[in-house]
Amino acid sequence: MIIVMGLPGAGKSTVLKGLKTDYKIQNYGDLMLEIEKKEFGIKDRDEMRKLPIEKQKLAQKLVADVLAKEKGRFILDTHCSVATPSGYYPGLPFEFLKHIKVDALVLITADVDEVAKRRTNDPTRIRDVDDVALHDQMNKAYLAAYSAFTGAPATVIKNKEGKVEEAVAQLQALLK
Ligand code: AMP
Ligand code: MG
Repeated sequence: MIIVMGLPGAGKSTVLKGLKTDYKIQNYGDLMLEIEKKEFGIKDRDEMRKLPIEKQKLAQKLVADVLAKEKGRFILDTHCSVATPSGYYPGLPFEFLKHIKVDALVLITADVDEVAKRRTNDPTRIRDVDDVALHDQMNKAYLAAYSAFTGAPATVIKNKEGKVEEAVAQLQALLK
């Protein structure tokens, strides 16, 4: 499995849409939303990160059960860390990684002011305008930890404004 992560507003979903691949691409948030709708009556994906940590943890566990069954050419679109009201929370706790065969870890990032601008201009989402620089720094620390734990290589791809095809090409090159 290739795990692709990125700050909200880094353009992760846009980069993934540009891939030409037979890999199955699964958005983690979609799976989690389905589960949290059933379990906790959540209606919107931007409510999820505000739930008590214990509930997010339980939902993560249920998502992990689904994902542990996936094998082969599979890309997971998710977050390195989630900015919750209680602090940064790992997107890939070791307990989850333990059950997954990880081939590569990829972080899509972008300049802080570009991320902030994309968040403000996205009418489809309720994006927080928090400390983007700190979140990006935390994500890189989490990324290194995931890489050391799984033994999978880590790549950081910068999605520059107006250069999305360059980011797509870098990610494309990692797919075999
Ligand atoms: P996205 O649409 O990619 O921003 O994902 C929507 C939401 O899904 C995020 O704001 C989180 O609440 C949740 N989410 C996605 N990936 C994870 C993860 N690995 N662990 C916990 N929550 C996640
Ligand atoms: Mg997204």
